[in-house]
Amino acid sequence: MSRVWNFSAGPAALPESVLRRAAEEMLDWQGKGLSVMEMSHRSPEYTRIFEKTRDDFRKLLNVPDTHDVLFMQGGAVGMNAIVPMNLLQGFEQAAFVNTGAWSKKTTKEFSKYGLARVVLDNANALANTAAACYVPECASLLDRVNGQQMAYLHYCDNETISGVEFNGQIEALAGQLDCPVVADMSSNILSKTLDVTQYGLIYGGAQKNVGPAGVTIVIIDKALLNRALSICPSAFAFGTVAENGSMYNTPPTYSIYIAGLVFEWLIEKGGVPWAQAQAQEKSALLYDTIDNSDLYNCPVRRQDRSRMNVPFTLADEALNSSFLSKAAEHGLVQLKGHKSVGGMRASIYNAMPLEGVKALVDFMRDFEKTEA
Ligand code: PMP
Repeated sequence: MSRVWNFSAGPAALPESVLRRAAEEMLDWQGKGLSVMEMSHRSPEYTRIFEKTRDDFRKLLNVPDTHDVLFMQGGAVGMNAIVPMNLLQGFEQAAFVNTGAWSKKTTKEFSKYGLARVVLDNANALANTAAACYVPECASLLDRVNGQQMAYLHYCDNETISGVEFNGQIEALAGQLDCPVVADMSSNILSKTLDVTQYGLIYGGAQKNVGPAGVTIVIIDKALLNRALSICPSAFAFGTVAENGSMYNTPPTYSIYIAGLVFEWLIEKGGVPWAQAQAQEKSALLYDTIDNSDLYNCPVRRQDRSRMNVPFTLADEALNSSFLSKAAEHGLVQLKGHKSVGGMRASIYNAMPLEGVKALVDFMRDFEKTEA
């Protein structure tokens, strides 16, 4: 068997040891004679799996008692509707920071439920030009948001497509804002330490740093659990889900089990501080290779570059297809950039080892020498 280095943006590579363990336990989980997929979500066996998974996640991110952790469905795009339905009671509007495709999508969906007030915007962030790929200066948020009766302020901590990542700017301001902060952390959760107390709500689809698609993780300030509009479906009402320990209806049991194995793996490695150091080292290696070359270019402003998703272009676009096919011959796959921006993108989440990034930069240097 030979496994490739998989740079997919998501669903993304999982730690090999997790996959091996899941394979071993597939037919017979811990001598019980059945697969986790076949267990009742209310059985004592599954309850053990679920509670350990939730507690490990809380431990990894130091989630305080003021906040609940919920395992839901619908993905991060589902959250674009679920969050307004849950937080708009008594409010008509919310504030949005647009830094790329994902935050814009959230803003657009919100308009079905209330008035979306865009308080910071990267015009044309989708274009992936240097002019658009940066984190805007955030201090002005205080003036734009406070006193405006906003239900919350939403932003996307890591824009997976354009490769723009915040570095604590909004977390640092949260204490001075008069509304809760809601953050989409789908593509960088568990890759850096957070002060969870500064957030009203953090959400993310699982299929990057957490596990397989199907489960959506929500960290929510308990004070926000009962602000849902009456139209909010019960299965998606944070208060109802919390009261029922994420078991109001059947949760995505197998995805949660794999997430639990990923959390055990991460704890063994050294937890989120380990992931953060790794992310720093891997992304620096890749960005240095890009910056020291005449062939590759990254449009994102240096201090705002994502440590998870590294977009880059080739100076001669005619080389794109041979870059991708030669990379695949070297076992380096899923490097094609998102269709809306073109070029390349290497996603290097927690499960991508340094060795995989070294293989990629070796290939990129060789390709530049021989083909460009
Ligand atoms: N937000 C971000 C930052 C993402 O990267 C993604 C998925 N790539 C989404 C939202 C959408 O997630 P899902 O497909 O799970 O709904």
